[in-house]
Amino acid sequence: MSQPFLAKKESRKKMKNTPVQKNQELEVTVEDLSYQGRGVAKVDHYPLFIDDALPSEKILAHVMKASRNYGFAKVIKRYNDSPDRQLDSESAYLQTGIAPLQHLKYEAQLRFKQQQIEELLHKAHLDQIAVASTRGMAEPLHYRNKAQIPVRMVNGQLETGFFRQRSHQFVPMHDFLIQDPRIDQVLEAVQAVLREFEVPAYNERQHSGVIRHIVIRRGHYSGQVMVTLVTRSRKLPAGTQLAQQIMSHCQDVVSVYQNINADKTNVIMGKQEKLLAGKPQIEDQLNGIKFAISPRSFFQVNSLQTEKIYQYVAEAAQLSGKETVIDAYCGIGTISLSLAKKAKQVYGVEIVADAIKDAKQNAVLNGITNAEFKVAAAEEQFGKWASAGLKPDIVVFDPPRKGLETKVLENTLTLAPKKIVYVSCNPATLVRDLQFLTENGYQVTGPIQPFDQFPQTNHVESVTVLERTEK
Ligand code: SAH
Repeated sequence: MSQPFLAKKESRKKMKNTPVQKNQELEVTVEDLSYQGRGVAKVDHYPLFIDDALPSEKILAHVMKASRNYGFAKVIKRYNDSPDRQLDSESAYLQTGIAPLQHLKYEAQLRFKQQQIEELLHKAHLDQIAVASTRGMAEPLHYRNKAQIPVRMVNGQLETGFFRQRSHQFVPMHDFLIQDPRIDQVLEAVQAVLREFEVPAYNERQHSGVIRHIVIRRGHYSGQVMVTLVTRSRKLPAGTQLAQQIMSHCQDVVSVYQNINADKTNVIMGKQEKLLAGKPQIEDQLNGIKFAISPRSFFQVNSLQTEKIYQYVAEAAQLSGKETVIDAYCGIGTISLSLAKKAKQVYGVEIVADAIKDAKQNAVLNGITNAEFKVAAAEEQFGKWASAGLKPDIVVFDPPRKGLETKVLENTLTLAPKKIVYVSCNPATLVRDLQFLTENGYQVTGPIQPFDQFPQTNHVESVTVLERTEK
């Protein structure tokens, strides 16, 4: 329904009535860091979010946008450096959002992640739950085993790069800082072959052209590389020759795919793919367990930290060989298979059919016979397990950012595991779910343990262990 004319006019007037105006320049002192890693300064209680600004820094800021409740500003001049500032950071990485915390010293990044969980617990009146120090990496760069790089034409040439944050400006780039350096090299080789074959890059405005993204995955231990060319069109002229050329330039590339994404969308991969050359999967390991990985299956991007997380999960589970375990949101079965050898039976559930195909194959690959995998939404499968009277001893959750569905939480109470191990990639939904579980017969044992799975970025990964209070 439309508002009466007067009210509309009034509300428009109100919107302009902010303590700062667009294009205004003013001196402010940064007080806080938002969860996205932006500096926060207050002008009469009105928060201004400022890129590349850290608490205790006094700056001359230029207001870029002033909405009713908050604004955005950029730094014109910085008068002092925070003791936490990493002085050799490069603005390109901050601007592209590849490494939004690169200007913060690593120790401070780790503290920042711990504090984020603490603050959310505090807001939820769960202060009794402690948070341990974040376990970080010895070398917090070049850790990603997967890259998804946009491709565009720049001055008539196909270029790989990245988009500036909050804009559609494409920035050509070759050193991606947080990726496995070999991935950067393969990317250059793929770019050269695409230029040689004169394959045009995607044009977003016209929804024309061919190559949208280059996705590269590299096994941390195996060194095997998979290249996926994401195309707008089904047609990829000379696709097979092109793939063979990539493989002859890079001996470690064992698999080249075309993935077709014809939609006008931000989603990177489409639903169809075609193997152009080589093997259908690459292999890698985590804690000595082998995994075959398909192009669209989820596989943790930071192998070294993932191994630490899975070891922590296994220790928390304290398996004796008699337990029934559910691994919810199991992907290609990584957690299931790392627990199976010490459990009686493991059940995994996952929504992506290809991932479950990989999980089943991975069980065979490792000689594991006590793991059963189901393709289903966790919210459906938990209901089925509850009705079937399944009595798991332990449930491991590793949900996507949106956390656990109400149906999953409610059915967990029926399944009544003695122990829950919750691996979370989003502290906001973790705390929401902990509130439910602690109000319904579970208590958190020990501190929440954050792991730095994504150094230089604002992502916070953690593991929480809960036990049922009544026996
Ligand atoms: N535990 C795995 C995967 C974790 S990522 C690992 O560590 O590798 C989360 C997984 O949840 C993804 O594989 C995603 O496909 C899956 N997923 C997302 N929504 C789901 C749902 N509603 N039910 C089951 N699985 C889901």
